[in-house]
Amino acid sequence: MNVAEEYGSLVFNDRIMRTRLPREVYKAVQASIKLGAPLTLSDANVIANAMKDWAVELGATHFTHWFQPMTGITAEKHDSFISPTGDGGVIMNFSGKELIKGEPDASSFPSGGLRATFEARGYTAWDPTSYAFIKEHTLCIPTAFCSYTGEALDKKTPLLRSMDALNRQALRVLRLFGDSKTARVSSNVGSEQEYFLIDKELYLERRDLVFCGRTLFGAKPPKGQELEDHYFGSIRPRVAAFMQDLDETLWALGVASKTRHNEVAPSQHELAPIYATTNIATDHNQLTMEIMRKVADRHDLACLLHEKPFAGVNGSGKHNNWSMATDVGDNLLEPGDTPRENARFLLFLAAVIRAVDKYQGLLRVSVATAGNDHRLGANEAPPAIVSIFLGEELTAVIDSIDKGSAYAQKEKTSMEIGVDVLPRFPKDTTDRNRTSPFAFTGNKFEFRMVGSSASIADANTAINTIVADVLKDFADSLERADDFTQALNALIRKTVQEHRRIIFNGNNYTEDWVEESRRRGLYNFKHTADALPYFVDEENIALFERHHVLTAVEVRSRYEIMMENYVKTLNIEALTMLDIARKSIMPAAGSYLQDLIGALNAKQSVEGLPAEPESSLIKKLAGLNADLYNRILTLEEKLDAGSSDTTEHGKYYSGVVFPAMQSLRAAADELEVWTAREYWPFPTYGDLLFSV
Ligand code: ADP
Ligand code: MG
Repeated sequence: MNVAEEYGSLVFNDRIMRTRLPREVYKAVQASIKLGAPLTLSDANVIANAMKDWAVELGATHFTHWFQPMTGITAEKHDSFISPTGDGGVIMNFSGKELIKGEPDASSFPSGGLRATFEARGYTAWDPTSYAFIKEHTLCIPTAFCSYTGEALDKKTPLLRSMDALNRQALRVLRLFGDSKTARVSSNVGSEQEYFLIDKELYLERRDLVFCGRTLFGAKPPKGQELEDHYFGSIRPRVAAFMQDLDETLWALGVASKTRHNEVAPSQHELAPIYATTNIATDHNQLTMEIMRKVADRHDLACLLHEKPFAGVNGSGKHNNWSMATDVGDNLLEPGDTPRENARFLLFLAAVIRAVDKYQGLLRVSVATAGNDHRLGANEAPPAIVSIFLGEELTAVIDSIDKGSAYAQKEKTSMEIGVDVLPRFPKDTTDRNRTSPFAFTGNKFEFRMVGSSASIADANTAINTIVADVLKDFADSLERADDFTQALNALIRKTVQEHRRIIFNGNNYTEDWVEESRRRGLYNFKHTADALPYFVDEENIALFERHHVLTAVEVRSRYEIMMENYVKTLNIEALTMLDIARKSIMPAAGSYLQDLIGALNAKQSVEGLPAEPESSLIKKLAGLNADLYNRILTLEEKLDAGSSDTTEHGKYYSGVVFPAMQSLRAAADELEVWTAREYWPFPTYGDLLFSV
């Protein structure tokens, strides 16, 4: 592949638009992309036609409005370009109306009661800020998905609204610093994607992986990740071929895949793209997950994106690197060279600190799913407690602001905010804290709690909105001040003093931190069912309404969808467990038992042979199988009960059903340990984790 030539070759990007659109129309699209200006229907017609011609030349026959409903995955419904000519032939046609608006049947997408099925109509609206692209002979048009009464039915609409909110408030703050040239502030995101690759044939033999994306049974193999010999290890040929194919496929789609390496667990890997504006980064991450699965399939592999495919080894997350930048390319989280730039940096930093402290619960909610529950709080990923890592140097700066003392740099120069120059923080700080859920890494924050299979839209909607909210408070108070510099210094100091408790530079995995965070009054929502109800807290509803990101009705409907999704996920897992335990594990253990009994009988027909070890083994296995049977009955019984209230139902699944599932698993895993290999009905952890 000639990368420079092929990169973005399937994308209707700026370069293509400039060459294929009339000058005036091109300018209108640019205004729409950069400033959100609406496009006229006549412009849309011209664009649609150019898009269609371009797509048809590249072999496309269909178009689709590509959108991100609340299922968390992308949805598409294909329409062909064909239009009959009346003489038995067809021409390829695509109108501006079809480009701007689509009307998929919305009745089967989760809406959380927003829309009764009889008025199931929703529509998709073109998002010109994200380029159209061609995937499998289909022109895909990125869109937002709304109900006819205007409620958001997807993950993209609130994300776009949150970006606007951040832009509005950040601009107010920049104006106070005398910045009159910045026209727009955007958040940027680079999301590192972790995943597992296993052999497809083995994958297909595991119904738990096929139905649930994670293993529901499996004893610990003799070798796991303890030798740490996989992280950054040399990449095996089959995986390397997959990665190359994946990168090339993504590059053609304009996804800037940059870094690839092996991760900590056996069979675990990571891909990181070059960061982009948040909504593009979100679209690209959705696309990346989809392409990963498809490319894996081509290589007879299965790509597992679940947060915890295997118990006992690391799960997968998505490190969400987030920053704010102006349209002239200034990163607002980058310490600068002048006192003014530094004061600006400290103000934006203080805004993030206050936002994360004030809305820690909301950040936790934004990553709460059944899958991520296995990860957060287990000793590998960030804990369920939200805190910020700032690093030694910046913490010293914050300390000196807090105490009102001069900050002494290593070279012994002192500073006061807004007066002297801050040291430049090395981007690759050596004391990177891998255990922190929200870490400052030189010029961006890395939010590490996002689950590997999740859309990054929810987390970034939350981050954009909470930071916008604090910037609004800041702007409100600074706009009223007589002496800007003095007010600014006082504001930064007050913010630091009020929100210091959220800063924690130590090891987040320890029990001590759990204790300490409790003393500091930080939230610790261990499970999704505990975290989600906080989403509909009055304070959070007011926040979303204040910034026009979500209405109260939208927040409540999203709550219903998320909790329902949690319950449904656990329910499917429980049913799958029962099915596998009843139909595969019990019979397998039974056959082995039967053969052991046969062996014992045969032995006893020979005089003088001991009954051991068969006799003991038979007793042990019979006991374990009886345990398994009883636990099947218990889980069945628990599944039949429950509550009609959403919150109670969630709590019931987390507090009653989940423990019953764990208990069933424990019995099965112990049985696996004692059952001869040839009897075990599906591939083991050892087979799966070391298959490629
Ligand atoms: P590491 O694994 O050491 O954290 P990676 O290189 O794997 O680093 O990933 C870092 C991610 O952060 C990349 O996606 C990168 O593009 C992104 N990134 C770098 N600078 C910024 C920035 N200013 N804003 C947002 N993301 C950024
Ligand atoms: Mg990385």
